[in-house]
Amino acid sequence: MKQGIHPEYYKTIVRCACGNEFESGSTAKEITVEICSKCHPFFTGKQKLVDSAGRVERFRKKYAKFNEEGNGK
Ligand SMILES: [Zn+2]
Repeated sequence: MKQGIHPEYYKTIVRCACGNEFESGSTAKEITVEICSKCHPFFTGKQKLVDSAGRVERFRKKYAKFNEEGNGK
């Protein structure tokens, strides 16, 4: 049988560069992100991460994927 089609699904600790940690679900055991809901400009209302548009977009996609996968199980 082929391996890797259905990778194991872990309860993942996501660590943010701001020091915040939260749990999510992923195929990785641990994830480090540069931005999270605690320091995200959208949530904080601050534009302290001016050059982070790409990171924010990646984060949002990643986060949406977490929720999607989490709801499906
Ligand atoms: Zn953060």
